[in-house]
Amino acid sequence: MQSDSDSNKKIKDGTPERQMKKAGGPAAAGSIKGGVRLIGQRIRRFADACENVSDAKKAAVAVLVLVISAAVLFTETGAFQNMDAGREDSENYFVKCMGPLETLKSTSVEEIQPYIEQRIDDAEEILDLALEKQTKSLREEYRELLDRGQGAYYQPDSKAERRIWEEVRAERREELREDPFLILVNKWHYLPSDYKVDPITLPNGQMISNECYEPLMQMLEDCSAAGGRPIVCSGYRPHEKQVYLFDEQINRWLYAGYGQEESEELASMAVAVPGTSEHELGLAADIYSSENMSLDESQVDTFTQQWLMENCWKYGFVLRYPRAKSDITGIIFEPWHYRYVGYEHARRIHEADICLEEYLDETEHPEKTEETEKNDNAENAG
Ligand SMILES: [Zn+2]
Repeated sequence: MQSDSDSNKKIKDGTPERQMKKAGGPAAAGSIKGGVRLIGQRIRRFADACENVSDAKKAAVAVLVLVISAAVLFTETGAFQNMDAGREDSENYFVKCMGPLETLKSTSVEEIQPYIEQRIDDAEEILDLALEKQTKSLREEYRELLDRGQGAYYQPDSKAERRIWEEVRAERREELREDPFLILVNKWHYLPSDYKVDPITLPNGQMISNECYEPLMQMLEDCSAAGGRPIVCSGYRPHEKQVYLFDEQINRWLYAGYGQEESEELASMAVAVPGTSEHELGLAADIYSSENMSLDESQVDTFTQQWLMENCWKYGFVLRYPRAKSDITGIIFEPWHYRYVGYEHARRIHEADICLEEYLDETEHPEKTEETEKNDNAENAG
């Protein structure tokens, strides 16, 4: 029993207070990882201290250490903050847990068993609560990240975090897909075949979806009042019209003696491939300034465009093809093409300075092939 006594001394060296202070290391960084490492260290330290104790007692000590460490971990990582059990409670709990270690020498495993079981139940409850809290705040954090368009660039630290991250991502994508104002149409995402538009004719004869008619008119009115001279030069383009224009182009090349495939390729240089133009949604408008009717980058220099780029989000519109996002959108900088997405989404997209693909977390495109390069040209043309 001499050896028991020795190891007990070693165990005593790890008094609650001391352990508590030491816990300010990796766990204080607030990461679960650091905490887990800390638990591992503690178990090893106590196992060493118990070198000559019977296996059963050693196991009992290991379980206790695990439970205590969990309590310390969640105290130090702040898991108790904002919970009913405050920091002080958890420290008291920690001290209480240490009690049996002091009397381990004179206590049989049978005697200590119920105590250990109770502690395990307590610890499980604490772990559940802490995990729930951790998961909830992680989910909120991930949601925010995704709203800021960081989906494609974020790498979770651990497997567990990756699981939650992918869950939140999938849920959010599903949720956004339900929103009719967020339908993604680009060369990788075709217009849904059952898509219906309820178009309304603007005073100048162009058409737009009834769904965004009022915000569009309000935006044009306020822009004019501020001194701008906005004109919608292209709005809703029915899918059939896009098909007609495209076929017309193909026929021209066929007539000139080219084969079917070649003619289609040549046609796509001049007209957007049907199903890939946002104008088919009825939620997009090309707006230029009456002082400058060329749809090119010189639009940036007009007051009208400056005003629209700065204020369009207030009306639920976004500048759909920003200069820095061409690789993601597949379309050149178009300082005239505005897309309606609704106020809340427009506000977030504007604040984060991202494009729609980033906001929707749909930036992963298939490898660029000769085919998609041609579509690039087509979009640039249409
Ligand atoms: Zn356009």
